[in-house]
Amino acid sequence: MPQDPVPCLLSNATALLEKQFGALPAFEPALESATDQSAMARVLEDVALRMGDNYPYFHPLYAGQMMKPPHPVARAAYALAMTINPNNHARDGGRASSEMEIEAVCGIAGIFGWTGFLGHLTSSGTLANLEALWVAGKLTPGKRILGSEQAHYTHQRISGVMKLDYASIAADSRGRMRMEALEAELRKGDVGTVVVTLGTTAMGAVDPLDQVLALRERYGFRVHVDGAYGGYFRLIPEALDEPARRAYAAADGADSIAIDPHKHGLQPYGCGCVLFRDPAVGRFYKHDSPYTYFTSNQLHLGEISLECSRAGAAAVALWATQQLLPLKPGGEFARGMARGRTAAMELDRRLRQNAARYFQPLAAGSPELDIVVWKMKAETPERASELARSVFDACAARDLHLALVELPLRWFEPAAGAEPEAHAANGAGLVTCLRSVLMKPEHEAWLDRIWEKLTAGCADVMGE
Ligand SMILES: *Cc1c(COP(=O)(O)O)cnc(C)c1O
Repeated sequence: MPQDPVPCLLSNATALLEKQFGALPAFEPALESATDQSAMARVLEDVALRMGDNYPYFHPLYAGQMMKPPHPVARAAYALAMTINPNNHARDGGRASSEMEIEAVCGIAGIFGWTGFLGHLTSSGTLANLEALWVAGKLTPGKRILGSEQAHYTHQRISGVMKLDYASIAADSRGRMRMEALEAELRKGDVGTVVVTLGTTAMGAVDPLDQVLALRERYGFRVHVDGAYGGYFRLIPEALDEPARRAYAAADGADSIAIDPHKHGLQPYGCGCVLFRDPAVGRFYKHDSPYTYFTSNQLHLGEISLECSRAGAAAVALWATQQLLPLKPGGEFARGMARGRTAAMELDRRLRQNAARYFQPLAAGSPELDIVVWKMKAETPERASELARSVFDACAARDLHLALVELPLRWFEPAAGAEPEAHAANGAGLVTCLRSVLMKPEHEAWLDRIWEKLTAGCADVMGE
């Protein structure tokens, strides 16, 4: 592992922070006496040993699920903030970190060109989506919420929690919401909100937001953009294909947006974000907290969020990261995103080039973001699924960590030797595919090694 810069970064900064409270009378912490130090060290050794039982998420050969290591400055800022452990519910609990949250959220809204918006951090993308759908439900009572069949599974579930009707719209063979299917539902006249996913979780598909917004003109409904995974790709339009570029360019026209700094934004877990274009929706959050809003007449973030306590440290980490790596097109952060995208395009190119041998890429086209999915070549879908699981294991044995995903069989060409009728008849079925999320900037430089291990893993499975 590379040398961790965090302990070194922390020692000066912690001293600087502590100095600001230096005028207070000294006290002995009741639960950390000197004799406890060695006990704490022993416990931490146990923690280190336990934590070794993990996939190596930080390493470029981990190319499976959506795991991007937090930036060292985020980890250091988070740990530094822990000296204070602020609560961003109210300024009474976190004055500095509330200001930092407001500034950091402004930086994120800036990706979408929004200024007069309402927004805050949440503990996750699920909570960000929940708040957006909660507001949508208040504004369009009794109306339905629609999302594509590839939308995140939590939309349906959180709609259920809020007793809002939710329905799924069919996706095309690249995982994007089908516009004819959407329009058929809109004609029924009872749709209040459409959830548009910019970057689906399974394969990074980008719903055609520009076309959904055109339909909004005709039918009138709210548009919530779920950019929990893919929101940050708005910073690199030049790296996207035309349909995705058009969808991202339209994102400023959404009514609300969810985006996860803990996915692509280099943050520790516990950092989602929700944005509303119209700040007037703040009225729905109105509540009386008899305990907390006393030390400032300025807005307390708890007055505009559903959660009460929230980690001020998450805001501090995000603020620090955006100071170091501003969210600007062409900046270092954007270039890091683009490198993962390049790695995904290169992996897809190699899969297609070598398709005759082992693989079946998606028939309809290349990845839209930095997630690649592909099927193993086999005469039956059962065998293809089995091969995918075996290759997953064989690659893991070679330290390459991929992921698996269930996709509709109809998205792939019939395999050579397969009966076309049988393929068509099985069209509603799912097949287990391999999936690789190439979201780390290092993935670009590591692609040769990833490819070498993938093909070696395939050779192991085929007994070659
Ligand atoms: C990850 C994800 C979510 C859920 O976000 P969490 O932060 O995991 O709660 C929602 N939508 C999409 C598209 C996602 O990729």
